[in-house]
Formats: sequence, C-alpha cells, structure tokens
Amino acid sequence: MNLLFIISILFCLFFSNIILLPLPFNQYAYMLAREQIRQHDRGVQAQNNLNSKEKVVNLYLELLQAKEYINTKNYFYPSRPIETELENIIKSSFYQFLTLLPKGGNLHIHEFQVLDRKLLLESIKNSPEYDLLYICDQNDCIKNKYHLRYYKDNVPSGWTKVKDSNWTISDIIKKTTLTGILNELKTPIYSTDTEGRWNVANQYGVFNFYDDLIRYNVTRFNYMKLVLDQALDENIQLLEFRRGFFGKLFYFDANGLRIPINESEELDLLLKFKQDYILKNPKFIDFIFLIYSTRQLSKEQIKIDINNLINLQRTYPDFIRGYDMVGEEDQGHTILFHSDSLMNAFNYSKTSNESFDLFFHAGETNWPENHLPSNYGDGVSTFENIYDALVLRTRRIGHGLSLAKRPDMYEYIRERQIAIEVCLASNQILGYVADLRSHPGIVYHRSGIPIVLASDDPGSFGYNQLTIDFYLATMAWGLNLADLKQFAWNSIQYSSLLDDRKTEGFRKWENQWNLFIDSSYTLACNQTFPNVIMNISDILPSYGPYDRSINVTLFGSGFEIAICKSIICKFGEKETNGIFLDINEIICPTPSIHNDLSTVPISIVINNETFQSGLNYKFVSSLSVIDD
Ligand SMILES: [Zn+2]
Repeated sequence: MNLLFIISILFCLFFSNIILLPLPFNQYAYMLAREQIRQHDRGVQAQNNLNSKEKVVNLYLELLQAKEYINTKNYFYPSRPIETELENIIKSSFYQFLTLLPKGGNLHIHEFQVLDRKLLLESIKNSPEYDLLYICDQNDCIKNKYHLRYYKDNVPSGWTKVKDSNWTISDIIKKTTLTGILNELKTPIYSTDTEGRWNVANQYGVFNFYDDLIRYNVTRFNYMKLVLDQALDENIQLLEFRRGFFGKLFYFDANGLRIPINESEELDLLLKFKQDYILKNPKFIDFIFLIYSTRQLSKEQIKIDINNLINLQRTYPDFIRGYDMVGEEDQGHTILFHSDSLMNAFNYSKTSNESFDLFFHAGETNWPENHLPSNYGDGVSTFENIYDALVLRTRRIGHGLSLAKRPDMYEYIRERQIAIEVCLASNQILGYVADLRSHPGIVYHRSGIPIVLASDDPGSFGYNQLTIDFYLATMAWGLNLADLKQFAWNSIQYSSLLDDRKTEGFRKWENQWNLFIDSSYTLACNQTFPNVIMNISDILPSYGPYDRSINVTLFGSGFEIAICKSIICKFGEKETNGIFLDINEIICPTPSIHNDLSTVPISIVINNETFQSGLNYKFVSSLSVIDD
C-alpha cells in the first residue's frame, strides 16, 4: 500500500475524522489548517469552558507562569531533584499565587505523613507536652534514630530530653525528612534509583516518625487540627486519608501510665472532632478514611485485616470509605497474591450501599510486565497490579505510572470513569520520574482520563500539603486555569462522598472558586505595566479573501498590557474586535467585506491608544482551497 495513503489514514484516525485540512499548501491554507488543529486541541483541553472573568484570570495565570519560566529558564525546578529545589519553589511568587487556588480535595494522602514536621514540633514546643518529649539520639539508639517519643518516667537508655538538649526543630527536620536526609548523604542517591530512595526512607524510619507522638491523644487531635487548618490555608477543603487500623491511641493516667483508647472510642472522638471543626470552619467539606494494610504482609494477616475492617466499616459507613494496600509496590506482594481476601472485600463492597470501595495503589513502578516477580509466591510482576485493580473495580488508581506503557487501556479506564491519583513530587523524590516534564500524568489528562493531583507523604518528604504538586504540574506540563479547575472539580466528583454530600461539596468548593476568581480578576485588572513595550513581530496569514472574514493571528510580546481592556484591530481604517488569546497571540478577524483588492496596514487600538504593527495585510480575489 502507498505509504502516503497509510499515513493519511492514520492521520484521519488520530483526529477522529473531525479535521479536514485545506490544501494546497500556501500560507493562507497553512494557517487555516493550523487553526483547525488548534481548535480541536483547545476543545480537548476544555479551555472553552472558562467564563469571561475566568478567561482574564487565565491570562493572569499565564503571565505569572511566563515570568516563572523566565526566572527558571536555566534552572528549571521540576526537572531537578525536589530535595534541592524545595526552598526555591516555595519562595516563588507563582507558588504563592497557587496557594490561593481552591484545589478541592487531596485524595491520596497518608494521614500521618501529611503535616510539615515544623508545624507539629512548634506546636509541641509551645505546649506542656514539651516536658515529656525525648529524642532517640545516643549511641545505643540504633533503630529509628532521631525519632521522638513521650516519656513521663522510666526513660530507656539512648533517649535525651529535647527541652534540655541543643536540638533545634530545624535540626530534627534535617535528620528525619526524606529531603533532609537525601541532602546530607555523603554519596548522593541517583535521581532514578527508586529502590535506593525507598531504602533510605525505610532505613531512617521516615514514614514512622510521627508514630508515637500521634498515639498520645492530646497530640493526635492537635495534629489533626493542624492538618485541617493547613489544608484550608492552601485552599483544600476535602481530605481522604489513607491510614492503618485504629486502636493504638492512649492517654496518660495520673501515674504516668499509658492507658489505651479502643478503636470505637477513637472513632467516636474523631467524629465529634469533625462535627466541631466543620461547625467552626463551614467551608471545610469533609475528611474520611481509607484503611490500608501493608502489602508485604502474609495472606493470613491480610485476611484478618479485611475481616476486622468489614466489622468496623459497618459501624462507621460514613467515615470509613474504603480499603487499599500500601508500601513499595516493587518490593511488596501483588494484588493477585492477596486476591482471595480482596475478593471478600469486593463482595462486601457490593452489599455496603455504596459506602465502601477499593482504592488501590497500583502501577507505582517503572518496570515492564515481564520483569521478575518481587517475592516468592507472587506469580506476576508489579506491572500487573493495574489489571487486578481493574478486576476488583478499583474506584481510583493510586499513581498508575505503568499505564504510560498501555495507552490501549485508556478507553477502558475512561469509560469506567476511574480517576488516577497523580502524585508528582512523590514520584520524583522516590525516583520514578526524574524530570516531571515527562511525567505521564499529563498524557492521562489530555487523553480524557480524569486525574486528581495529590501529595502522598508531603510531611515525611519535608514540606506541607499540596501546593508543591500544583506548582510542579502547572510548570512542568504548561497547564492553564481550565486544567487546574478540572483537577479541582475531579477531586470532588471522584471523591468517595455520597451524592448528597457531593452536591454540598461542590457548592462549598464553587463558593471558594468564585471568590478566588473575583479577587484574581481584580488583581489582573489592576496591574500596571510601566516597563512593558508591546511589539507585534508577525501576522499570519498576511493575505486572505476580500469577500469573507477570516482570523488573522498577531504574534508578538508585551500583549499583557491589553489584559482587561478592549482590543480593536484595524485593517487600514476598517475595525474589528480583537480576541486576546494568550500573552503572545491576539486574534484579529478581518472585516467581513472589503470592497477592493488592496494592501492595508494593520494596527491595534487598546483603550484608545494605537499600536502600529508596521506590517501589512493583503486582500486578494480568489483563493481556492480544497479539503484534504
Ligand atoms: Zn501513597
């Protein structure tokens, strides 16, 4: 078969036969064809869904983003290890702007890995608990060195009272967060050494740091309050926590003994805490729990876990909404290995009145499917967890990196509306994606798979909540406001909230969104640009038919001065209304009828000020183009 013919068939298939491209190639036909492809692409990107105010805020976002691209041109943070770039990112004004964006929910976070260490430690320092705080820092402290624990008396050897020591909060953070530890290693770990990075995290107990502190009921509820307050500060209104089983909480009695609080007491306290919190903070939507086991556990243990979970879930159907298995996927057991017990969980979900689902971490791997199984007893490799998660009707997929190799499955996932929880910073720090410009999340999003941005273990990594991930995605993928709005919307739509709560969730988020748009719109329109000079560098096409209107694109720089202002395009003396497309492009429709075949100068008028382009447009008589 003729090669050209095959290419043209593939081309048509790719664009779903929607686009017929004009030919023959001349500048006019070329620009018509280009416009058609861009229209199609913009349709996919849903930019058209923004209202007029949002379109202005989108330009403002684009302007801030463009400044950040200039500032980071030779040192682009999303392409460098986050452990070295964290401070630079947080200082940037673009990050500060993204803090204000109403992000909806954070749907993939491990409850005791969320909060920035600094916030909890400062709050303990200002509380009576500081007197009880000890650090495991002496030579005979081997396991979990530099971890903290409360003691009233009987302090074992190896532990030092923090209050009486030289330890500062920032020193403790350096020793116990993954970014802190990676930065202090004598031999750096390569940015794609996934196993090496996980090993460091496990060896230093990075993910267990809060373990003892949050078992003490006073600190536990302080921790929760700080997490929720910080979420609201970053404009996150909904949290779906992954966490292990309940029932490890304690309080100190008068004699300093640890008295356990059982799981239903703990859950009742949490429910009461939640009610009070929402009463005081009515814009907060909800927090719920997805309970997990460690995937490395035996079949017997997972079976016991799931039976316990089912019993507990029946009593707290609004609070405990699902089940997952966690831990390094390449080292732990596969979903297939535990499938007998997981089928039980699935069968139970069908009887739970939609109050319970499975939410699997799956495809957090770079290995292909024919890679070795990780453990004795696992018949398949990590890659295949994606298949088993789908078999068990997972509501969402945590990470899903391996799907990058399987675009043939996108339609299946799209049709079933399974959202992917994309955690950029986590994927980078754990060595899965070194340069976030190549993170597959953008492919899923542009392919119409719903994605949500989530942060996994930010506190243990060394920062707070979710804005970091929004910064990395927006910069690395070149996102616009419509994309960010879509992610926020997805985080409510694909949350585990039941329908009536979801409606309320949307209402609360939309309120915040509208406030954000109003204040950003004001900021956008109050800008002044004393040092910006507008320059029109090119117009395309530079000729077109005299008897009908076409869109001519003006390319250039400094167009930001037109934000919030009306743009008049002038073809000689004839005027049309210009459209501000982005900070480098203005669209000028030609007049619908131009009586003579002439060449005219193009200028634009912004708020009564005229800018000459120095370029001409030519009206011609016959331009025959045919569709390809
Ligand atoms: Zn996770």
